[in-house]
Amino acid sequence: MTQETTGRNLFSETNISSERIASLVARVDAAGDDELTVRAPATDDAIGSVPACDEADVERAVDRARAVQPSWADLSVGRRGELLDRFAGLVLDNQEELLDIVQLETGKSRKHAVEEVADVPLNCSYYARRGPEMLDRDPRQAAVPPATTAEVSYEPVGVVGAISPWNYPLTLSMVDIIPALIAGNTVVLKPDEKTPFIALALTALLERAGVPEDVVQVVTGRGAEVGPPLVDGVDYIAFTGSTETGRIIAEQAGRNLIGCSLELGGNNPLLVLDDADVETAARGAVQACFTNAGQLCLAAERVYVHESLYDDFLDAFVGATRRLSLGTAFTYGPDMGSLIDADQLARVDDHVSAAVEDGATVLTGGRHRPDIGPFCYEPTILTDVTPDTTVACEETFGPVVTVESVPDTETAVEKANDSEYGLNASVWTGDRDRGRALPRQIDCGTVCVNDGYVSGWAAIDAPMGGFGDSGLGRRHGRAGIERFLESRTVASSRVGPLTEPRGVSSSWYARGLLGLARLQRRLSTVPVLGRWFS
Ligand code: NAD
Repeated sequence: MTQETTGRNLFSETNISSERIASLVARVDAAGDDELTVRAPATDDAIGSVPACDEADVERAVDRARAVQPSWADLSVGRRGELLDRFAGLVLDNQEELLDIVQLETGKSRKHAVEEVADVPLNCSYYARRGPEMLDRDPRQAAVPPATTAEVSYEPVGVVGAISPWNYPLTLSMVDIIPALIAGNTVVLKPDEKTPFIALALTALLERAGVPEDVVQVVTGRGAEVGPPLVDGVDYIAFTGSTETGRIIAEQAGRNLIGCSLELGGNNPLLVLDDADVETAARGAVQACFTNAGQLCLAAERVYVHESLYDDFLDAFVGATRRLSLGTAFTYGPDMGSLIDADQLARVDDHVSAAVEDGATVLTGGRHRPDIGPFCYEPTILTDVTPDTTVACEETFGPVVTVESVPDTETAVEKANDSEYGLNASVWTGDRDRGRALPRQIDCGTVCVNDGYVSGWAAIDAPMGGFGDSGLGRRHGRAGIERFLESRTVASSRVGPLTEPRGVSSSWYARGLLGLARLQRRLSTVPVLGRWFS
């Protein structure tokens, strides 16, 4: 590895070598020699390069995925589940190497990287176990039971494209692919240009688990060059990234009349109600705000605290935040790691500087720490933030949070909902009933009560996604696999065509039809029968 800037040889601190990285890169089939350099945020040194695929490279990958799709779909769902279960085992067995690659590419702390590894087995075992039932033939209420029947069968859409971001490159490369594969689709994955190696390591493990070659392929390169031919070639696109890019993908998917799911940004609120336990809420807020240095779509960026607890909460929150250690070691030592790159650092710095210029107070943090790493930034808590300053209304995607005192719960909810986004909210309360009732007033796809985000994300059986500018469609649960399926309804009649019987006039037929409609309406209100006639 090169030691251009820091003198630190990151490879010597890990279980991975530059040769191993090069062997992963060899998996990408690219005809040209245009390359992109990948840098380690911990030092800003180059750690390797990947091909910058072009349109023809993407088309080839999609063609190969299309060629192998029927044989993949011919395997039973159970068999596909077995292979993915085996893959989950390999992910766990190879966790040290995977953690090293994630840390090398993202600069995140190991304790945050490990959440990514843990997520894959959760998803694999959920869809391996539930997939067969979700894909099974599904009898439905017929038009005129019992004279007719109706049944739905599910087919894979074909080739799924997945575009993933850099912040959780392991989790977010796999979370959509797993249900897509269980459903019988093949996949072409385009990881972010900053974090391509982990995607390649995962596809190598998929093959080791027995998933045939070409069922999952990776195309590397610039988003604006690789994205459009990918969306043009596939039958469904699962996108995770910024709202801005999400709109581009949605337009293209719309023109092509293919489905898409868009998992986009957030500016997530955290509410501390007047009956919350202050210490617990503060501990939860530290996790909600500073996991992965705040580069988490579900991270809390706005905290609203009931005025009766405001001072105590701030004391506890600021104290716990100051105790966080910042570092880039490949150990479980540092609590928080680096930002991804200079652009992200500039964005965070700009948001904080603008807020301070507008009168905000920095209670802790607010400083770039090049002594720790070129893009390290301290976990930062701001108060006295004016509502229209950038940090209040835009997603910072960094370790920065604003805290505000509110007189009552209604104001907290009003402020929480005052956003174009609606991804995740966190509510802290000591009252279980309130914890159940209040989330219904919050305009977010997920609301976690007495937790920041983990209980929502890890509830794989429950759909996850955003309201408003936070996205379209849902991942996880049944919704997470249905998007990758075409449904086919098969309806049949036991009494021949449902039309006027021979010898019956149109007017008698009309009377009979409307009489039947009336009868069906009555029967639908009868318990037991209602199920069949409603
Ligand atoms: P981004 O939109 O710039 O990039 C995401 C991916 O899209 C990358 O792979 C990139 O190469 C690709 N891309 C860029 N331009 C493209 C184009 N024109 N066509 C096709 N693909 C293109 O996002 P980012 O800023 O790097 O990622 C951070 C954002 O992602 C944040 O807003 C964050 O909140 C969001 N995010 C959302 C979720 C979620 O589940 N809702 C999860 C993680 C991140």
